[in-house]
Amino acid sequence: MALMTGKEYKESLNDGREVYINGERVKNIAEHPAFQPIIETKARMYDMNHEARYAEACTTKLEDGETICRAFKLPKTKEDLTAIRTYVDTVLDDLGGVVYRVGDETIGEMWSLYDAQDRLNEIDPTYAENIKNHVDRIARLDLFHVSANTDPKGDRSKLFEGKAAGTLLHVVEENDKGIVVRGAKFETAAAYAHQAFVKPTISNWTDQSMTPYACGFIADMGAPGLKHICRTPLSTGKNPVDYPLSTRFDEIDTLLVFDDVLIPWENVLFHGNLESAQYIRKTVHRYSAFNYVLRLQRRADFLLGTALLNVEQTGLTKLPAVQEKISQLICYRETINAHLTAAVADAQKSAGGLMMPNQSLLYTGRLYALTNFPKMAHLCRELVGGQLAVTPDSATIADPQIKEYIDKYYTLDGGWTPEKRTKLLYFARDLLNSAYGGHQITFELFAQAPPFAQYMAAFNHFDLNPVRDMVTKAAHLETDTKADFALQK
Ligand SMILES: Cc1cc2nc3c(=O)[nH]c(=O)nc-3n(C[C@H](O)[C@H](O)[C@H](O)COP(=O)(O)OP(=O)(O)OC[C@H]3O[C@@H](n4cnc5c(N)ncnc54)[C@H](O)[C@@H]3O)c2cc1C
Repeated sequence: MALMTGKEYKESLNDGREVYINGERVKNIAEHPAFQPIIETKARMYDMNHEARYAEACTTKLEDGETICRAFKLPKTKEDLTAIRTYVDTVLDDLGGVVYRVGDETIGEMWSLYDAQDRLNEIDPTYAENIKNHVDRIARLDLFHVSANTDPKGDRSKLFEGKAAGTLLHVVEENDKGIVVRGAKFETAAAYAHQAFVKPTISNWTDQSMTPYACGFIADMGAPGLKHICRTPLSTGKNPVDYPLSTRFDEIDTLLVFDDVLIPWENVLFHGNLESAQYIRKTVHRYSAFNYVLRLQRRADFLLGTALLNVEQTGLTKLPAVQEKISQLICYRETINAHLTAAVADAQKSAGGLMMPNQSLLYTGRLYALTNFPKMAHLCRELVGGQLAVTPDSATIADPQIKEYIDKYYTLDGGWTPEKRTKLLYFARDLLNSAYGGHQITFELFAQAPPFAQYMAAFNHFDLNPVRDMVTKAAHLETDTKADFALQK
């Protein structure tokens, strides 16, 4: 198999999958108005891989010479990590927007399990073989691969006491063909992807009663018994001039119901094993957080650029107070950039022999980018000003009867015609104020993990010993007093 084209990708989705949205069962997903824009965006990504100008940034070769998408190459050197950064930047530059769940971010979760092959071999050698085969298969078949972690969890208090885990996804049957699973996951992009890596959600994976829920596998998104129940689209029927982002980049989220779905043995990555569940929960984002933070940097660029163009056209850049606010957006952008750059410069070898971005720098960068995002979006909103919220839409301003007023109130020096000025305001509105803009704030907050889990990741990956020793020495403390009180990780 070679690289897929956009056309082949769209055709491949017509596999009888069961998708529901806006109160209807979807027939041909690639042509459905709720999905068509984002499927076209993903199709464009597939087509980019065939264009000579993108060959270097977007493709590479396996050892046997097969050409694959750059995103699917296992990172073994720092250069491989830099190439991932170049790949993501190239794709987002071409698309002119930010998309997350488009395959490169989610493949990293498979690489985390690939790193655990030695231990998987001890548990059951077929699992180690399966993960290796799937990492290779995704690359060779150019599959759109997404990730399913989070179950609808019901009463969390019971769950953490090891009770009432019944709604979590679990194995109901084992037979000669594979395992049969029942449960549900939330999953962005599932309805228009080929397959997902399904794995345990955040829970108490030390409790023996959780064993039937400790499973990880590859699910085919068109498998019988799988139901995609999708949220309301954010842009259907809207004019792309008025909503330039949401009409192209609305990544539809799905409640993915597994109504007794057969998972063939070759797709089972672990099963009935608490240690594997603990491992994947600890390591799931060790690679994918890099691709995720790359998107946050792009969003920081969009905030900065939007604020800048607005204050430049209204002549506000001359004010030191405004420059100070722009500097805050610059600091936000550059701090994210610094974390990404340093995470590659100080990259670490994984136990499986891959090259991981420096984990402490990556997870602290992710937290910084994520927790400051709403504040920075609000600063951008403040700099754009109230016209963001009160500007009439493109159909209204095109009305000849009111042209003289639009010309008078929306023309600015420096070639800013009403058409250009409103285009920028529509972009700002979609970035910050539309249904899509609001959705993105929630997406950033939860998409990889809720903030408390991200703080735990930052805690677990920072080496506390040097600072403990430093203060012990500087304060002339007894060195043997630390043991009883030291934080255990
Ligand atoms: C737009 C969007 C897209 C998503 N896409 C995906 C996807 O593609 N794949 C996927 O698997 N999931 C996805 N998710 C799900 C997401 O990962 C979860 O929403 C997230 O993990 C939080 O789980 P929850 O919603 O069940 O919240 P809960 O577990 O109910 O937690 C809610 C809040 O309670 C508090 N809390 C809960 N437990 C603890 C604790 N132990 N310690 C401290 N505080 C706690 C925290 O404040 C937390 O934010 C998506 C979510 C959104 C909103």
